[in-house]
Amino acid sequence: MHDFRSDTVTRPSDAMREAMRDADVGDDVYGEDPTVNDLEARAADLVGTEAALYVPTGTMGNQIAARTHTDRGQEVLVERESHIYKWELGGLAQHAGLQARTIDGGDRGVVTADQVHDGYVDADSHRPGTGLLCLENTHNSKGGTAISADDIAAAADAAHDHGVPVHLDGARLFNAAAALDVPASDLVDPVDSVMFCLSKGLGAPVGSMLAGSEQFIEDARRVRKLFGGGMRQAGVIAAPGLLALENRSRLHEDHANARQLAEGLGAYDALTVPEPETNIVIVETPDSAEAFVEALEAEGVLASVFGPQRVRFCTHWDVDGEAVEAAVDAVGRVV
Ligand SMILES: *Cc1c(COP(=O)(O)O)cnc(C)c1O
Repeated sequence: MHDFRSDTVTRPSDAMREAMRDADVGDDVYGEDPTVNDLEARAADLVGTEAALYVPTGTMGNQIAARTHTDRGQEVLVERESHIYKWELGGLAQHAGLQARTIDGGDRGVVTADQVHDGYVDADSHRPGTGLLCLENTHNSKGGTAISADDIAAAADAAHDHGVPVHLDGARLFNAAAALDVPASDLVDPVDSVMFCLSKGLGAPVGSMLAGSEQFIEDARRVRKLFGGGMRQAGVIAAPGLLALENRSRLHEDHANARQLAEGLGAYDALTVPEPETNIVIVETPDSAEAFVEALEAEGVLASVFGPQRVRFCTHWDVDGEAVEAAVDAVGRVV
């Protein structure tokens, strides 16, 4: 079975399993786990922030950020198809008491400065006031689009003009950095906090990082505890995270495989396949996406239903060029 459903399905390497066994550990709620402390320092360094916090999941990282940046009852500006708005169980309302105001980021999920100015509301006796802008890079639902540092800065600067902080959902930040050929810190510079996942293309079995200023991370640490995310000898899961950070350059392979997959699939007349920017390939199917995915599974290939007539293929380190060829052939038999 070739599994293209998500880049979260990778199995940890032997080196990661050894690192887990050998990790130096302590009680991280006391700040005494040396491996977690190393991971947090290294992560902050890579994205160019003062500090970082290890969190169990990307979802928790985003939710902690929203809660930390805002006051209950405020509005948060989110892209209409963003993960934080669409795929996190309404957590902004449940965990932070926030009301979401959506912005349509168009085909690529790019939020413009004008849209931020239009969406912003001043607090008065009728309006809640805007407390946060959330951006996403790469943008998952838009097909893994890699949004440039200039575009991120334009939206973030507009929010800052109103005194509104900015959180970046960078679950696949390093995919964006690889595709744009810039250091990740360039994409993080304009914002106040960033979350990125170790457990996706970087290949760790578990974990995400939340990064920002020292003060922000100190506050976020308390919220992590509040949300039940304070972990003890977490060095055993942070150790493969440290190795995952060294997998950044191999994301280029995933992007090349995604391009090869899109080319192969695009050759079938029945399918529309936009050119992928990173490791996500979107396929528009002529009929039901569900039936397509089911038929494909019978041919030994897994993909995700992404809409009534949309299917998502994700490349990652457990699918190589041969798996891509097998997938193209399998889709051929289905269409
Ligand atoms: C996967 C993902 C998340 C959440 O990460 P989990 O670790 O699965 O909770 C957040 N944002 C985006 C854009 C994602 O793709």
